[in-house]
Amino acid sequence: MTGASNRYPTRDLQARDAAHHIHPFTDTGALNREGPRIITSADGAWLTDSDGKRYLDGMAGLWCCQVGHGRQEIADAVHRQMCELEYYNTFFKTSHPPAVALAEKLAELTPPQFNRVFFTSSGSEANDTVFRMVRAYWDKMGQPEKKTIIGRWNGYHGSTLAGTSLGGMKGMHEQGDLPVPGVHHIAQPYWFGEGGDMSEEEFGLWAARELERAIDEIGEDKVAAFIAEPIQGAGGVIIPPQSYWPEVSRICKERGILLVVDEVICGFGRLGTWFGSDYYGLEPDLMPIAKGLSSGYLPIGGVMVSDRVASVFIDQAGDFHHGFTYSGHPACCAAALANLEIMQREKLVERVADDIGPYLQAKWTGLADHPLVGEARMVGLVGALELVPAKGDRSRAFEPAGDVGTLCRDLSFDNGLVMRAVRDSMIISPPLVLTHEEADLLVERTAKTLDDTYAVLKRDGRL
Ligand code: PMP
Repeated sequence: MTGASNRYPTRDLQARDAAHHIHPFTDTGALNREGPRIITSADGAWLTDSDGKRYLDGMAGLWCCQVGHGRQEIADAVHRQMCELEYYNTFFKTSHPPAVALAEKLAELTPPQFNRVFFTSSGSEANDTVFRMVRAYWDKMGQPEKKTIIGRWNGYHGSTLAGTSLGGMKGMHEQGDLPVPGVHHIAQPYWFGEGGDMSEEEFGLWAARELERAIDEIGEDKVAAFIAEPIQGAGGVIIPPQSYWPEVSRICKERGILLVVDEVICGFGRLGTWFGSDYYGLEPDLMPIAKGLSSGYLPIGGVMVSDRVASVFIDQAGDFHHGFTYSGHPACCAAALANLEIMQREKLVERVADDIGPYLQAKWTGLADHPLVGEARMVGLVGALELVPAKGDRSRAFEPAGDVGTLCRDLSFDNGLVMRAVRDSMIISPPLVLTHEEADLLVERTAKTLDDTYAVLKRDGRL
């Protein structure tokens, strides 16, 4: 028994959790029978649980902890801000220094068309803001019939009504009779799973042109915007073929619809550029952000608003009837500013592009040699492994989908590595401060986890 386990008695915490806590995206009955693991502390790329076991945090929390855990500097900045002005709102002709400083910093870091931000507390709220802002924009432009927003199947934009609706997760839509009216979904650029006989490039063009077909079907005068993640995260780290984004960009420009690029995961260095839009050369009109903005130290998100959109709101009189109690929360802004200061000082984005990114990618893609792995892919520091029953045959998947991924995820935890399973893809998105030794360990533990998974499947006659 360690000191930590005495301070945090695992069974007792699990029982109290089961009695009173409903977890996100969880089968509560099943979890209550098993009991959650209790994470009690974290440092750098490492987590410690209530039994003293250490895990390499291959997911940077929930894709968010860019600068690693346990940065005293961020805690100190928040403490100072809390002592000076713990909270005030930004409604009613009011602002405060941390909101001003963060807005200015974001204008500096984001692509040149962005000079303004609308603050929220999360990525979901950012996408709710997008939903209302897009429609308000077209109203102000005198084209109120331009209402439909096009998203993609298996895209993820959050869990609120608008976020769930814009996203294309069918399981989420089924709960709560969503999407709301005025949202249309098109195919995702998921070549490995859905590319059939097409080459990657052909499939990328086909998937992009689904947007054009949808615009023709709905009517250009009725379509307001297209929303997408540069690389789909929660959908399974789906890296689009190279042909995809240039074609989507062309279509959005030619057809006069707004392009909304959801940077909640890809933003803040994940791809080795400040934003996914920089990586793919995109020119979005709106850009939801969250997660890496504060490395998750405190909840904060926002929507970057391009001059094209902002000018319409600024030039025309009248309120935008939208906002949150915590829009621009001073302590959250202070956390974000301290986080961005670390990212710039330690050149973490450059590090992902030139150093730890290529280092981990080389080792990660080597896992494609494993008999369970159909594809190993990674950009920057976000990657996936496709687990398959028949290597070399993309048409065959495990049935029922998700069981093998869950098995592999649980074995990964046993091996001291946090990986996430999306269906039967294994996902990693580690902190940007990952060291070379930690990258070696991450790949070693992944390889062992694949071997363990393979052994269980063989034993059970599933391979
Ligand atoms: N957009 C994307 C691309 C996301 O990945 C997420 C969260 N994983 C969200 C939006 C929602 O963010 P939040 O959970 O902060 O509401």
